[in-house]
Amino acid sequence: MRLDKYLSNAGAGSRREVKAALKKGGVTVDGQMVKDAKAEVTGEEEILMDGMPVMLERGIYIMLNKPGGVISSTEAGRTATVMDIIDHPQKKDLFPVGRLDKDTTGLLFITDDGQLAHELLSPQKKIGKTYIADLEKGVSERDLMVLREGIPLKNFTTAPAEAEKLSDRRVKLTITEGKFHQVKRMFGYLDNRVTGLRRVGFAALTLDEKLEEGSWRRLTDKEIAEMK
Ligand code: URA
Repeated sequence: MRLDKYLSNAGAGSRREVKAALKKGGVTVDGQMVKDAKAEVTGEEEILMDGMPVMLERGIYIMLNKPGGVISSTEAGRTATVMDIIDHPQKKDLFPVGRLDKDTTGLLFITDDGQLAHELLSPQKKIGKTYIADLEKGVSERDLMVLREGIPLKNFTTAPAEAEKLSDRRVKLTITEGKFHQVKRMFGYLDNRVTGLRRVGFAALTLDEKLEEGSWRRLTDKEIAEMK
């Protein structure tokens, strides 16, 4: 990576600021002053700017409370994506683990850790995802039984889910799969319709209720350890 890009990605300053620091002779790479912004670095070197070490962060773990109206893909298009919300100098390295529908809100885990993401998305791991679904119609005990037993959808039957009725038209549902529109389709089979969907749990993570929709925070060390 170019040295100026490395420095700004690592949060040392804007491209303009780091270029100015380079020009002034304020940057050393392994003890040698380097003024060339285009010099290539790997990140293995000891890089100092104004005498302070500048390191790229590795292992970034973020909890986002996704708002409605944004898509959870990393592709920049005309529609706003969750990555537009994440104001992090290394955001190009980050990606959401799994997807939520545009209108779904709540917990989205974002990281640069490809290995962990791969494990969490592996169907064999049967990672739990917990949703609060608001429904158009009331939910019966029989509906809950069917959710718990498994629902035949077009090309597969859902694995047994945990279903708890929170009120007549609100259900807390934990599923271990993540098929396209799965929760909406499960309630669709029960002749009901999801009017609001919020994810509150993903693997070991629980949505921090203090985190407003559209806000994010880094995971605590304890949360990171529980995710691994
Ligand atoms: N199930 C859905 O239907 N939508 C989501 O966003 C997540 C799970």
